[in-house]
Amino acid sequence: MRVLLVEDDVSLGEGIRTALRRAAYSVDWLHDGASALNAIRDDIERSEIDLVVLDLGLPRMDGIEVIRAARRHGASVPILVLSARERAADRTLGLDVGADDYLGKPFDTHELIARVRALLRRSQGRANPTLRCGALELDPANLALRWQGRNIDLPRREFALLRMLMESPGRVVSRESVQQRLYGWDEDVASNALDVHIHHLRRKLPPALIRTVRGVGYSLDERIAAGQAETSAGDGRAAP
Ligand code: CA
Repeated sequence: MRVLLVEDDVSLGEGIRTALRRAAYSVDWLHDGASALNAIRDDIERSEIDLVVLDLGLPRMDGIEVIRAARRHGASVPILVLSARERAADRTLGLDVGADDYLGKPFDTHELIARVRALLRRSQGRANPTLRCGALELDPANLALRWQGRNIDLPRREFALLRMLMESPGRVVSRESVQQRLYGWDEDVASNALDVHIHHLRRKLPPALIRTVRGVGYSLDERIAAGQAETSAGDGRAAP
């Protein structure tokens, strides 16, 4: 999951970026409204930004104008406003021009991250906070993964990668899209980094769980996730 953070206050922005990264989101950070609008417009076709966290008092273009223009251009990305303008009339205006949520400053970081999770869930059409696929259970709030009831510790990037695949089990996610959503703009990434993460995941989980579709990308094998490992393939039960 990739979050575009738009905040001109450097120390506040650093705090938010750290909290988002700890929650296994990749973060791109911009400091003014005009650049934010450009980035959101450029992403309309690509859909690589999953959520925007937007301050309102910004240089070069006010946040309210950014939202208005983004929606006018057809951007459907969820937008969470963070603002010191906290009168009811300000919140109403923010929501009515097209923001999806509004949090007043100062705010609690845990609440911000919980709101990010809730917005992402809604944008994916899910109500259940836990992602389940067969015997695989992923809890985004606690960064916890269970396989057949057993806890498995995963570093942040591996967790983010598996979370991405579990959001659309069975569907092939292109390698490019995985890469774009796993790493931010300003991160130096080795060309084989993704292969290394996949390799590590395959050592901790059934190796066939993550299928490589050559030349295309990766998908989560629902049959393997259901616990029907290769050894039980001949027992005659149909995959659910
Ligand atoms: Ca500001």
